[in-house]
Amino acid sequence: MSRALFISAHPDDIELACGGTALLLKSKGYDIHLLICTHGDKGTHDRTMTADELMRIRELEQGEASRMMGLSSYQFLEYMDGELIYSKELVERITLHIRRICPDILITFDPFKRYQLHSDHRAVGLATLDARLSAKMPLYYPGQLKGNIDICEVKEIWLFDPDEANFWLDVSSVWNRRFDMLAAHNSQLENIMDEVVNVITMKAKKSGKKKESPYTEAFRRISFNRFYFYADGI
Ligand SMILES: [Zn+2]
Repeated sequence: MSRALFISAHPDDIELACGGTALLLKSKGYDIHLLICTHGDKGTHDRTMTADELMRIRELEQGEASRMMGLSSYQFLEYMDGELIYSKELVERITLHIRRICPDILITFDPFKRYQLHSDHRAVGLATLDARLSAKMPLYYPGQLKGNIDICEVKEIWLFDPDEANFWLDVSSVWNRRFDMLAAHNSQLENIMDEVVNVITMKAKKSGKKKESPYTEAFRRISFNRFYFYADGI
């Protein structure tokens, strides 16, 4: 069975940026996996909320969204929200997860997006791109290669919310369901859901003009083959 691995910084990143893609791949028979690097434990304006309580709430919300997405697995790396930095440790931990799942498609942030203002998003995108490389070569983190964990050659990367898209996925068939799933993240969207739905819909329609379909999600798609150094994207 084909597998897709989404790697995000916070609970709700995937549901906000490309929830339709997760649902569509699932409907096409993919096994879907998610790795979330932080618990999103600073995501509140409520001065009475504690980080521990928010962490607990967001774990529950992610559990519900993951169930609706039909995920085969989801896991937190348990870094603190807002404190994620690009590091060899982060690359190593993401490498291990890529080797465990060995996805056909790896989906994460575009770290090269101009004006990507969240440092967690930049760190995850960059570390994931580097982990893709180390995952396929045995001299990177050789201690990971034991039991049923082996090197893994990812075939494609899809960078969401891209600086410059070159691939548009028609997600019209799952459009309404993507918002049911997003609504599971109630702590983040309780008072702004209508606004968020409008923004995502506008963006999808604008992006859809590239494929003349009503709703699409855009990516920078990089396919890896012998000649990928010479190819522009696909
Ligand atoms: Zn985020």
